[in-house]
Amino acid sequence: MINRDDFHRTAAACERCGATYAARKFSDGSIRLIGRSNECRCGGREFVDLSEAERPNGSGRTATD
Ligand SMILES: [Zn+2]
Repeated sequence: MINRDDFHRTAAACERCGATYAARKFSDGSIRLIGRSNECRCGGREFVDLSEAERPNGSGRTATD
């Protein structure tokens, strides 16, 4: 049985204007706004998952070249 609800609710912020929206984040990492087409009122289409951004440990993975 396939679980079609393969996402969790989160908050997403527009990368352009910082507006926050309720959103769903899917297991593949994509973010969909709830109740809107996937576009901010400013026209932005890139969103940051706030639950990820506020991770207390910050960047656990540091790019070491
Ligand atoms: Zn925006």
